[in-house]
Amino acid sequence: MRRDFSVALEETLNTELLNHLVRSDGQEDLIFATYSLSKGTNRMFGTLTEIIYPDEGDREVHGNAEFYPSYLRHAISIALKKKEGLAFLHSHPFPGWQGMSPTDITAEKRIAPSIYGATGFPLLGMTTGNDGTWSARFWVKNHKKKRRYTRKWCSSVRVVGNGLKISFNDNVLKPNFDSEKQLRTISAWGKDTQEDLSRLKIGIVGLGSVGSIVAEILARTGISYFVLIDFDTIEKKNLDRTAGVFEKDIGKSKVDAIAKAIKKSATSPKITIKKSEYSICEEKGFRNALDCDLIFSCVDRPWPRQVLNFLSYAYLIPVIDGGIKIRTNSSNSKLIGADWRSHIIGPGRVCLECMGQYSSEMAKLESEGFLDDPEYIEGSSIKLPSEFHENVFPFSAHLAAMEVLHSLSMIISPSGISNIGEKIYHFVTGTIDSERKECASNCFFPSIISKGDALNLVLVGRHKKAEISRKGR
Ligand SMILES: [Zn+2]
Ligand SMILES: [Zn+2]
Repeated sequence: MRRDFSVALEETLNTELLNHLVRSDGQEDLIFATYSLSKGTNRMFGTLTEIIYPDEGDREVHGNAEFYPSYLRHAISIALKKKEGLAFLHSHPFPGWQGMSPTDITAEKRIAPSIYGATGFPLLGMTTGNDGTWSARFWVKNHKKKRRYTRKWCSSVRVVGNGLKISFNDNVLKPNFDSEKQLRTISAWGKDTQEDLSRLKIGIVGLGSVGSIVAEILARTGISYFVLIDFDTIEKKNLDRTAGVFEKDIGKSKVDAIAKAIKKSATSPKITIKKSEYSICEEKGFRNALDCDLIFSCVDRPWPRQVLNFLSYAYLIPVIDGGIKIRTNSSNSKLIGADWRSHIIGPGRVCLECMGQYSSEMAKLESEGFLDDPEYIEGSSIKLPSEFHENVFPFSAHLAAMEVLHSLSMIISPSGISNIGEKIYHFVTGTIDSERKECASNCFFPSIISKGDALNLVLVGRHKKAEISRKGR
């Protein structure tokens, strides 16, 4: 049984909805929209896909708003055609998170059965305040009692685009911070921001050098919900590059060791860590990632990057990604150059494939096991990122900080700037370059924004290396 409920919507769709719902004359208004229902391990969430505008005579606005049966029938027929769920959205003329009036409850209870009956998906009810703060709930059919529908309040509604703006439901998900331990942090960006940060569910995929440092930074900063995803085991060779890991941790899973480390570093009074000893390319790891609001990608292989690229667009979970490239002189192994880059992928931003961070051909080779076949690699011209690139702690620490800074820009939006583009740091010259690339016109990923589980595209599968790694512990 999933215990967390949530909703996500893309930024431009959110603007269109608010333009319709938040009226300059101060009256309430309503609208229908379709949504795709997706399932993480612990979270069920909807991603809004299309607005169904009312036609003339579909509704009446008189202080509050009412719709006629023709509008509901029309909306259901569109949802049916798309094989998606239906959301009913309305506005209130006050700011902040909105509860439901008795009339609201009656209205949603009345339409929940016909919408579930027709589409097979629960009604998603949403209310916005006049400042764009959302509240949301699913009306889930109670299978024990016929015709009974139970209201499940969503813990959060996130709007994803240039920024990541999340409306939290205080009754379901309380802020969780320690104003004494976090005195300096709170004085930097204020209590409201800290309240939001303390409720974010953050995934870290890959707990090597960069991932372990990202985890440490976030735990100190007051993040309270972590999903750690990595199938690997700590080895002696990891000790010079991994934060919070010591000799006695050799042989343990990376997620176990890092979970223990960040429990000690955490400044939040209550830290919740989901440990996932899987690859993001395995079904279980993938579903664990869908429980998150935001993900750090600290992997450099093509297959996991392809999965994370897909996830950021289809499920509206922004992915912060980065990578380090070191060049050495092959004759005397002297360092010639080192560059690292950090960027966010998701709606409105260039995808990892168009950025040249992986290719589908290589992802396919990896998923078929060829990249872990030494004979195959030897006979080809392929150079694997993880084996090819050496790495050192200070480079990883800098990149980890850059990635966290990227996430903070997106969440806090200081002076209204939330998209700082892609950043590339050059170690030799000490300079930072900025880029703002766009996806190729024929790129697949912008076409799958918000489609979620409805897309039915399976990129995950068996991951032999992960299976062997788990068995070896
Ligand atoms: Zn209302
Ligand atoms: Zn692209």
